[in-house]
Amino acid sequence: RAKDAGRGVYHAYEPELHVQAEERRVLEMALRQALEKNEMHLHYQPVVDAGTGNLKGFEALLRWHNPQFGNVSPVKFIPLAEDARLIQPIGEWVLRTACAEAAQWPSEVRIAVNVSPDQLQNPNFVTVVTSALASSGLSAERLELEVTESVFMHEGLGATKVLERILDLGVRLSLDDFGTGYSSLGYLSRTRFSSIKIDRSFVQGASQGVKEAIAIIRAVVALAQSLGMATTAEGVETEAEHRMVQDLGCTKVQGYYFGRPLPVEEARALARRGWDTSAAA
Ligand code: C2E
Ligand code: MG
Ligand code: MG
Ligand code: MG
Repeated sequence: RAKDAGRGVYHAYEPELHVQAEERRVLEMALRQALEKNEMHLHYQPVVDAGTGNLKGFEALLRWHNPQFGNVSPVKFIPLAEDARLIQPIGEWVLRTACAEAAQWPSEVRIAVNVSPDQLQNPNFVTVVTSALASSGLSAERLELEVTESVFMHEGLGATKVLERILDLGVRLSLDDFGTGYSSLGYLSRTRFSSIKIDRSFVQGASQGVKEAIAIIRAVVALAQSLGMATTAEGVETEAEHRMVQDLGCTKVQGYYFGRPLPVEEARALARRGWDTSAAA
């Protein structure tokens, strides 16, 4: 009977939902204590000048190692941290740690830090940035904050105002994962981004000969050029991809071809000795 069938479906489905919710709950509990238990650290991925191959800086990427769950991907725990209202303390720790580290590097090497939309909703955020710069001694020009298009969805103009105040400090902004969200051009004219980061999906598509991906990279590069912004190609994995994005006019490149996200000591050594091209041979 229909009623029994419905029941059957209900019973078969519920335990799975329950497990998911339970996993989430346990993971969230662990996440709540991750900072105080020293389970978080940063890796740093090289960002390279597309033309000269010189090291421009590093992007800080958050890592979480939990004794029970092992290494948890930021793709999984960042959204969880956002839902659990943990992203503000975690984001502040990332910012302070990255600024303190970058202050140890030669002054031409920059640091890029990812910022969640929720962090820009905090009226205190500008103070947090100011304080991270002051206590580390890092000059504002060396810090770049990466935001995604979604910051403009949340609360439109609120975020724009906070970004204005960040720019007033002398900090740079870049637009991360460009092309994957609601790519409205309005905010590109409202907010002074230093750089547009072209998402890896376009780089990958273009290298596989997808005409649309090539056309989009071309268009973004032309748009950025006319707005006086740099373009960073994300996720460059091969020499052929490097040559391709270079030919398309991207000004900076980042990806496994140039270097994976590195532990702090390795990044520091690389920042200090610069790009040793003989090591790649
Ligand atoms: P994202 O900011 O776009 O960072 C780039 C991601 O691409 C990183 O993944 C990086 O490891 C990966 N990647 C770089 N080069 C290559 C490549 O050549 N091939 C491939 N397949 N992947 C490459 P990761 O570290 O897993 O981070 C994922 C996302 O998590 C980041 O994307 C960012 O949105 C978020 N995230 C990471 N750290 C933080 C953080 O401190 N705060 C916030 N709010 N988000 C963060
Ligand atoms: Mg990023
Ligand atoms: Mg990105
Ligand atoms: Mg991306």
